[in-house]
Amino acid sequence: MKTHAYVLAEKDAPFVWQEVELHDPEDNEVLIEVVACGICHTDLAVQSGAFPSPFPNVTGHEGSGVVMKAGKSVTRVKEGDKVLCSFNHCSECGPCQTGHPAACEGFGAVNFGRLRSSAVGQKPGLSGSNGGDLYGAFFGQSTFAKHAVVMENSCVKVPDDTDLITLAPLGCGLQTGAGSVLNKLKPEKDSTLAISGLGAVGVSALLAAKYLGVQTIIVVDVVPAKLELAKQFGATHVFNARDADVVDQVKAITPYKGGVKYFVECSGSVPALKAAWAMTANMGTLLSAGTPGPGVQPPFGVFENLVGCKTYIGLCEGDSNPPEFIPFLAKLYADGHFPIDKISKAFPYDKLEEALHAMHVGETIKPILVFT
Ligand SMILES: [Zn+2]
Ligand SMILES: [Zn+2]
Repeated sequence: MKTHAYVLAEKDAPFVWQEVELHDPEDNEVLIEVVACGICHTDLAVQSGAFPSPFPNVTGHEGSGVVMKAGKSVTRVKEGDKVLCSFNHCSECGPCQTGHPAACEGFGAVNFGRLRSSAVGQKPGLSGSNGGDLYGAFFGQSTFAKHAVVMENSCVKVPDDTDLITLAPLGCGLQTGAGSVLNKLKPEKDSTLAISGLGAVGVSALLAAKYLGVQTIIVVDVVPAKLELAKQFGATHVFNARDADVVDQVKAITPYKGGVKYFVECSGSVPALKAAWAMTANMGTLLSAGTPGPGVQPPFGVFENLVGCKTYIGLCEGDSNPPEFIPFLAKLYADGHFPIDKISKAFPYDKLEEALHAMHVGETIKPILVFT
């Protein structure tokens, strides 16, 4: 069928809205009419080439929509169901088989490499108006489009009364931050937890820590307006990362002035990770939920980490199992514990540039494109 999508022709090319031809869903795929899609920094990292993914392509990986047609072997959803889309995974490796699909051994291939399934392989899936192939299947979905063919593993069925615009971003950034705290760190109420980088991942980590009732929640960022926002969302202390003595400032308010017990680094910046490591107490745990892209080494020594008895964790997508975790977060939102509507702003799909600008200047943390 013909539809429209934002196409990236090559590295550093602009997003261009154009007519494309979408193939029929294979047995393990689902055709959806896209309602909305959050914009995530990962889409921009593909555009800039920081995260390798073949061109020309369509991105978009926080989609929501309504199922129009389901492939023969699909059991998760059926025609007419509302879905929130999340990351793809292989279903076959150890982590997938044991309930940790975000740790899938094929994560890169099935999310960035556009591999649709072992049966179908890396078929492009879309073609442009000139007939040339376009890679779809970004995170199993490529939902910067009016319609998308989505891998079954990327689909999460949600109730018919779900707000598909507000909740669209649950599938990536928001579950990443929330999952880091709720699924992995599980901080005690009387513990200290710090977060650096207050984008969508950082805010959702903050909301999760607040939900758990953590007594001391510290936020570190370089943007003063974001530090104000952090206070509104429950941070008990905020610090400007540009202060030369920020590490000492944070340690000064922690037990024995030794640093925090838990740290969630969300910015992906190496200097921020280095500072986060220094702000983490001995016996404490530092978790990277953001990344500078492939090939970058951690900025601390093995010896120093050993004598500090610190734990360093890398965690993808908050160790979420989307069919369980996304409905859980939707319930938290409905109960008022996860007010993600306060950090997002919806834009008509043809206002992509405006949406990106609003994200860059801090006017909104999570822009959402609406395609209907
Ligand atoms: Zn797997
Ligand atoms: Zn993302």
